[in-house]
Amino acid sequence: MARRATVIGSGPNGLAAAVALARAGYDVRVLEASESIGGGARTAELTLPGFLHDVGSAVHPAALSSPFFRAFGLRQRIEWIAPEISYAQPLDRGQAAISWRDLQRTARDLGRDASAWLAVMRPLSSHLDAVVDFTGSQLLRMPRHPLTTVRFGLRALQLGTDLGRGTFRTEEANALLSGVFAHANSRLPSLSAAASGLFLAAHAHAGDGWAFPRGGAQRIADALVDDLRAHGGEVVTGHRVTSIDELDWGDPAAGDLLLLDTSPRLLLTHPALPPRYARAIARYRYGPAAAKVDFALDGPVPWRHPDVAHSPTVHLGGTRAEVEASENAVARGTMTDRPYVLAVQPSVLDPTRAPDGKQVLWAYIHVPAESALDPTEPVIRQVERFAPGFRDRILASHAMTAAKRVAFNPSDIGGDILGGSFTLAQAIRRPIVSTAPWRTPLRGVYLASAATPPGPGVTGMPGWYAARQALRDTAGVRVDPADLFRT
Ligand SMILES: Cc1cc2nc3c(=O)[nH]c(=O)nc-3n(C[C@H](O)[C@H](O)[C@H](O)COP(=O)(O)OP(=O)(O)OC[C@H]3O[C@@H](n4cnc5c(N)ncnc54)[C@H](O)[C@@H]3O)c2cc1C
Repeated sequence: MARRATVIGSGPNGLAAAVALARAGYDVRVLEASESIGGGARTAELTLPGFLHDVGSAVHPAALSSPFFRAFGLRQRIEWIAPEISYAQPLDRGQAAISWRDLQRTARDLGRDASAWLAVMRPLSSHLDAVVDFTGSQLLRMPRHPLTTVRFGLRALQLGTDLGRGTFRTEEANALLSGVFAHANSRLPSLSAAASGLFLAAHAHAGDGWAFPRGGAQRIADALVDDLRAHGGEVVTGHRVTSIDELDWGDPAAGDLLLLDTSPRLLLTHPALPPRYARAIARYRYGPAAAKVDFALDGPVPWRHPDVAHSPTVHLGGTRAEVEASENAVARGTMTDRPYVLAVQPSVLDPTRAPDGKQVLWAYIHVPAESALDPTEPVIRQVERFAPGFRDRILASHAMTAAKRVAFNPSDIGGDILGGSFTLAQAIRRPIVSTAPWRTPLRGVYLASAATPPGPGVTGMPGWYAARQALRDTAGVRVDPADLFRT
């Protein structure tokens, strides 16, 4: 009889682990709390019929560069849209800073900062595989590309501290940098925000830039589920696991496996968890949260700057000083009046998202954990600031506060969408300091979520690493993702 593998959670990491184990010959069952599959990679008609909104992730530069998804062939399995503009940041008085996929064009637009932008971005975007290799696993190992790693580290040190304040002189370059660094939802400047920001900014000028799937993020989850089913696996929805002790997942002595694509807190439901490990899991910190709103629109957002209209991803927040003030307030547990907004308008390039002539807009703001703040008005005010008349285009909206998020996805503790705060300490301690952080002290039980390295984002890598570790420990096989996807 085939060995059994049970995966709790059908997010991209749970599904990546499930696909890997099914292809390795396991009998795989995925248990998902929600009625729909995909975790942070779902698309749904949240507002009106015919309007498709990404419920979680919207833009996927790191999916196309992920070694797991490359081996899986994600690029070939679904249709991708590669925008000419990776991200834009409108400024007051009708100006805007634009990060073109074309690095030279971006630099040219930045005028006095052209050479400074090239000096920071070119060595990283032209060695993107090396950047992905270094950032795409746990930090406790020897890098395979030491030169790029050192370059990346020095840039993060420079731009993640006050030392880097003079690197750029124009309002535009400073705004672009702060907008992309703010994705980390942490203090600015900080090393963790600089590292994740440089990773994203390097993707903006390489390959397909900040690409996204035609039809929405759900396509990524669906492609994984199709492959899982083709290899005999199944997904059971509407099944929330409240205790791993009570779950029948097989016999670890016979090589059966349990993988958790969940918050590590679910491990605490097992009485045999050694106290030292349990204390480490209890010490793992969740960060500030996200409050999200989706709009169905009667037409395009009336941006003052014409290029912003063509940019799927738009960072709203004005100058670097404003973005930093907003992010630092959230890190202290408060908010500014004009919060940083991460907005995505996929329908400017993907007509499948809305009926003819209509559009969708996805947006979230960072808020303190557990906040009950409805993001709708703060987001409308920030969009109106750079696109007067936006309010009149709204047909319907759907908001989710940080406080309500955990009921929607039990992994999003307090509304944290990153699987645990992304500080430098927690990039190393994710959720424990170990060269094999996916392995737990419970025999046959592995953590496979974004709370393990390399952390958040739709990459499938935490799930793949957990499956790889489990195969090594229990079956004694060392596999490369390419080995699994030869057929
Ligand atoms: C609003 C938002 C915007 C984002 N934007 C982007 C983006 O643009 N690009 C990007 O790359 N990433 C983005 N992310 C992050 C990305 O979605 C996550 O990092 C990624 O989904 C993490 O994958 P995961 O499999 O670890 O966990 P999740 O995707 O969170 O999936 C976990 C799954 O496990 C289920 N589950 C949890 N506990 C239990 C339980 N006890 N029993 C049964 N099921 C359980 C949940 O219901 C969920 O389906 C965003 C996330 C959110 C929420």
